[in-house]
Amino acid sequence: MKKFQAIREECCEANRVLPKTGLVDLTFGNVSVLDAAAGVFAIKPSGVAYKKLKPADMVLVDLDGKIVAGKLRPSSDTPTHRRLYRAFTGVRSIVHTHSRHAVAFAQAAREIPNLGTTHADYFDGPVPLTRALTAEEIARDYEWETGNVIAERFRDLNPLDVPAALVRHHGVFVWGGSAQKALETALALEAVAQMALWTLQLQPAMPPIPKALHEKHFRRKHGPKAYYGQDGS
Ligand SMILES: [Zn+2]
Repeated sequence: MKKFQAIREECCEANRVLPKTGLVDLTFGNVSVLDAAAGVFAIKPSGVAYKKLKPADMVLVDLDGKIVAGKLRPSSDTPTHRRLYRAFTGVRSIVHTHSRHAVAFAQAAREIPNLGTTHADYFDGPVPLTRALTAEEIARDYEWETGNVIAERFRDLNPLDVPAALVRHHGVFVWGGSAQKALETALALEAVAQMALWTLQLQPAMPPIPKALHEKHFRRKHGPKAYYGQDGS
């Protein structure tokens, strides 16, 4: 059995599922999965068709950026994933997409406001938006600096309670405790972005969801008093 077989398989499966979710046009998306104890993550190789991916194709990268195993070049977004694993303790998987409605908010430079219970089930507040990268940051180390502006935006936020970010002018990064959970949250993010867009078309001055309703929905799924779903799920 190959080393890091479990994260290779989890990562491969999630990347194969990604185009079927409708979240990805062409090749604008990738998934990585971390082995936290080893400090190594598996990520999609660059430029390989999703449906052709095999676990052995996954590239293994350590948190210092060294390639530990893999013959192929890793996704060009690898430094962003690496920066986020270093910043966000407890995150085991990261999904990057350019899902259209979420990107509409990122391109319009607007965070996604928390307007209803679908949003409140997944995010403890608005989905935050990063600042623009400077020309110097873009020239210096673009993908790493993309991770930096996300980490900077989360200085006063808990990434486990708000498991997604909009990168201004670009796309979304979403994370979770497993690839399956991160993919689910990426789907939820796109759904709430579409709902928010329609809501704001109908009622541009719509205020956020009432606090009590937000708290009810977020807390029944997250934290010590969670009771939604089945034990262990
Ligand atoms: Zn991108």
